[in-house]
Amino acid sequence: MKEVHCNLCGQNDYSVRYPATLGREDHHAPDARAFRCTSLDYGRHAQIVTCNKCGHVYANPVWDEDELLMLYGDVEDTTYIEERIGRVLTFQKHLKAFEKITGPGNGRTLLDVGAYIGVFVDVACQAGWNASGVEPSAWAVEIARQQHLPILHGTLDHPDLAANSFEAITMWDVIEHVADPAGELAKAYKLLKPGGYIAVHTMDIDSLLSRLLGPRWPWLMTMHIQFFSQRTLATMLEKVGFEIVWSAVQGRYLRLNYLSSRLTGVVPAAGSLFDQAIHAFNIADRPIPINFGDLFTIYAKKVS
Ligand SMILES: [Zn+2]
Repeated sequence: MKEVHCNLCGQNDYSVRYPATLGREDHHAPDARAFRCTSLDYGRHAQIVTCNKCGHVYANPVWDEDELLMLYGDVEDTTYIEERIGRVLTFQKHLKAFEKITGPGNGRTLLDVGAYIGVFVDVACQAGWNASGVEPSAWAVEIARQQHLPILHGTLDHPDLAANSFEAITMWDVIEHVADPAGELAKAYKLLKPGGYIAVHTMDIDSLLSRLLGPRWPWLMTMHIQFFSQRTLATMLEKVGFEIVWSAVQGRYLRLNYLSSRLTGVVPAAGSLFDQAIHAFNIADRPIPINFGDLFTIYAKKVS
């Protein structure tokens, strides 16, 4: 792990917000399982700091970009496949909201960054977009390809991605995982056509739930290293050149038994009771809309 500067303002002037809870062994070789999408690695994280200059919250010291890429390259996550129905409903809802700004797909190009097994790409294709994705996990790309979904293996540096070629770019739950979010947003900016839109979705460190739970906020996990608020993400997008179009809280759909496994990770006794109840009523597989107010989306436009 190494010391890093604030990715939003470039300064190295911070206050410790939450001390590290990781063991020393994780500093050199963190477990790739902690980097899965459905990881239940709650309560374990690197030191989390707040920038004294701009207020951005980030993990510091942290693994470098190459280490992170290697970890994400190795990610395998079968729980995510089981959660497909919840993801489909969430993505359908997110796409519908995004289309109020972009207009309908009508064969226009969309790139999903960190596409994973391609659920959003699938949803967007079905809605009429010419959608494709890019994803670092070889395992996830293979699953997507088995379903004939066009997912490139790699990152935004992939040579097949051409500048000014996309009408829309989406980043669902990706920006909190990367070492250089400003750099990734700048690459996305380049790939967009002038007038194109980006949607960025992440968790909100300034949300009421985050402030109430403090160090017990469930999104403090090994794999999350950037903690944005609507303000800090908007500032970063503007620095890159984007014009902010819309910013608001957006929830998701989860199956009840997935919710129960997550709850068990945070409050074991309550989780176990909840689990018994949903199985007793035979509703464990039912997806329900969840909104704790601690996830948000920003839409921004490439003006010129
Ligand atoms: Zn800063």
